[in-house]
Amino acid sequence: MYKAFLVKYAEIGLKGKNRYMFENALRDQIKFNLQNLGEFEVSKEQGRIFVEAVSEFDYEETVAALQKVFGIWGICPVVVIDNTEWENIEEAVGDYVDGYYKDKNITFKVDAKRGNKQYPMTSPEICVEMGSYLLKRFPEMKVDVHNPEARITVEVRNKAYVYSHVLKGPGGMPIGTAGKAMLLLSGGIDSPVAGYMIAKRGVTIEATYFHAPPYTSERAKQKVVDLAKIISAYTGPMKLHVVNFTDIQLYIYEKCPHEELTIIMRRYMMKIAEKIAADRNCLGLVTGESIGQVASQTMHSLAATNAVCNMPVYRPLIAFDKQDIIEVSEKIGTYETSIQPYEDCCTIFVAKHPVTRPVLKIIEKNEENLSEQIDELVRTAIATREVISIK
Ligand code: ATP
Ligand code: MG
Repeated sequence: MYKAFLVKYAEIGLKGKNRYMFENALRDQIKFNLQNLGEFEVSKEQGRIFVEAVSEFDYEETVAALQKVFGIWGICPVVVIDNTEWENIEEAVGDYVDGYYKDKNITFKVDAKRGNKQYPMTSPEICVEMGSYLLKRFPEMKVDVHNPEARITVEVRNKAYVYSHVLKGPGGMPIGTAGKAMLLLSGGIDSPVAGYMIAKRGVTIEATYFHAPPYTSERAKQKVVDLAKIISAYTGPMKLHVVNFTDIQLYIYEKCPHEELTIIMRRYMMKIAEKIAADRNCLGLVTGESIGQVASQTMHSLAATNAVCNMPVYRPLIAFDKQDIIEVSEKIGTYETSIQPYEDCCTIFVAKHPVTRPVLKIIEKNEENLSEQIDELVRTAIATREVISIK
């Protein structure tokens, strides 16, 4: 029944001069998300975007794809009426109402928009005529112009359009309107959610994954690729930088106190990610850290990790409980993949009793044991990284 969608967007009030940028980014992301689902004409018009199918398409799939486009507040499925003779519009709108509102015991109001100024009726006339047609055809329906249960909008342009209900979009800002950030993406539950959340604010993301073959398997890496694919349905295509971290981990293991291993490893992850981020024109790093979740995420540990970074580090989950993070991961579809049991590169070298209150001075002192080879190892790790294009 539906052949088009009217897309209403979020946070438009914030946009002044930059509004066109926001709208163009939204239009482009809509086109991207629909590219394999049929042929659609996507046009910008007065505070909304109109998506009209010009080929066969699957309604459910199309709605699901639109519901992954950040910046969309609501999606109105629209019935397109090709023949704009008034009697035909009346009948088509009546059929629409009949199909959508099974129970006719409702209050309604007709809104009209006349895009085609040649059309022989004005907007108020369209409202009145359509209202009386509907009352005649469905005597149980009642008009309520202030607080109607059904707000039936009829637009007349070269074709006519009718819609009355809104499906919820994801909100946020269109990707590409806020610069780029580097996500530290592991195979866990948290970091994919962190990436989703930062991208929801319009940030383009790339990702870095540290793996440690043979201590971590190909399967563990594949899991991260899979997670990147799932979130790319929201974030658009992204580059995933896979860094071989084995030699650095072994070197730290050999030279530093074992209870400080995790912190020192995390400091090197951040350093490396920051170097790749700078090279890729990113404006910040993103992690899935949350205060107190594990030993490496106490306030003390976060301070020690943060101390190596010059770029801002965004931690969208910082105050989230694990259960809340799990709920988002279920909603966005990463949870099932995240809980697959493939080992993480940190867990293998993890000490029985990691420090929970690292002292920066002591950590820095112990890192001096690495001075002989670490710079070279870091350079090599960055230079030999594998870059995977996620589409
Ligand atoms: P996650 O569920 O995201 O793996 P976690 O609860 O396991 O998080 P940590 O292992 O302490 O927590 O990692 C904290 C953050 O550091 C992660 O959210 C992620 O951003 C980053 N991180 C951890 N391990 C890796 C890795 N192997 N590659 C890239 N980033 C990582
Ligand atoms: Mg992890």
